[in-house]
Amino acid sequence: MNKQTLTILGATGTIGVNTLDVIARHPDRFEVFALTGATQAEKMFQQCLEFSPRYAVMTQESAARALQDKLVSTACKTVVLDGEQALIDVATSPEVTTVMAAIVGAAGLPATLAAAKVGKRILLANKETLVVSGQLFMDAVRESGAELFPIDSEHSAIHQSLPAGFGGDLDGAGVKNIWLTASGGPFRTWTMAQMEKVTPEQAVAHPNWVMGKKISVDSASMMNKGLEVIEARWLFNASTEKIRVLVHPQSIIHSMVEYRDGSVMAQLGTPDMRTPIAYALGFPERIEAGVSPLNLIGSQLEFETPDMLRFPCLRLAFDALNVDGYAPAVLNAANEVAVDMFLNRGCGFTDIPRAISHALEHLPSSSPRELEDLLEADRHARARTREFLASSVSV
Ligand code: NAD
Ligand code: MG
Repeated sequence: MNKQTLTILGATGTIGVNTLDVIARHPDRFEVFALTGATQAEKMFQQCLEFSPRYAVMTQESAARALQDKLVSTACKTVVLDGEQALIDVATSPEVTTVMAAIVGAAGLPATLAAAKVGKRILLANKETLVVSGQLFMDAVRESGAELFPIDSEHSAIHQSLPAGFGGDLDGAGVKNIWLTASGGPFRTWTMAQMEKVTPEQAVAHPNWVMGKKISVDSASMMNKGLEVIEARWLFNASTEKIRVLVHPQSIIHSMVEYRDGSVMAQLGTPDMRTPIAYALGFPERIEAGVSPLNLIGSQLEFETPDMLRFPCLRLAFDALNVDGYAPAVLNAANEVAVDMFLNRGCGFTDIPRAISHALEHLPSSSPRELEDLLEADRHARARTREFLASSVSV
């Protein structure tokens, strides 16, 4: 068995920590080449002591200095780097076989795309990369021969429920629909009036999953499911009509594939991100992940239709996917800005879809031809959304 040599982009985050937890169970299979983080020097210091990566990258320069200061008095030989170019360098180094892409937001795009271009095995948690640059990213994967494994639990479930070796032809595989399940988040049963007054603390308290703050707010607004619809479009070459969303509050069925003959294949499990991480790390083998076994005795599985009136973010994501072009990138940029403002109490929870609608009303008229076009649209949408929220917030 060849060892995989890993770079973990976003090692200090929730997915990063879960990835290291799985890796630590299999020292014979995996070695760590580089870990990256943004600001959390102490957390990265502890990870360096435990995993002795060749490189540790902190994108924030002061955090890199703080990490360096902590490491000098230890036996750990990790070299500390800073800045965004370093993310690309450690994701594309010839020694690296596998890249876990677990930075949050479009900030993860340049390094993830660079890893795709040089043909790495990519474990993709950073769904925003596919939302912003789906076509370019999938082209890069195809052209370089990179291997791509989804980490999102829903897309991992679909990967596991499609025929082995699925090459992108859903019709050929007899697939009628892809069913993405959604927990519905903490406000599943709330009225719109109640949602006007939501606090960041309420929004990040997800009923089933422990996740980073941004994706927790996205789950509460159901934008997370919207981003996942766009992600599914690219990962599985699916038309919008084939992608369906089903609310399943218990998060036991992680998603399903419905076939022409009436068969429905689903993947179930205890909600724990170490399962999809271990699936992608070990593929085609199944490896120990430390996850509690699923106990179905006494549990009830419920299903509902998503309510796009109370959760307009989900509808906006479908709209953006149908418009295509710049729309998904603009949707994502506006959402990132609005979520950040909401978390910092700069706007209300229901301002998030208002800000995204506003941004989608101002799409560039041309079609994007290259990455720079999309990045420019991203920058404009961010500036426009900040302006819009600053002038019209309801907090
Ligand atoms: P998190 O906030 O816990 O961690 C984010 C990581 O990205 C941290 O290591 C942070 O240092 C790094 N980071 C943040 N901003 C950065 C920047 N500007 N430049 C470089 N690095 C930066 O987030 P998370 O919950 O681990 O989610 C990571 C990604 O995985 C997201 O795209 C999310 O949608 C996806 N995802 C997460 C889960 C989950 O259960 N947490 C499930 C499915 C998909
Ligand atoms: Mg998910």
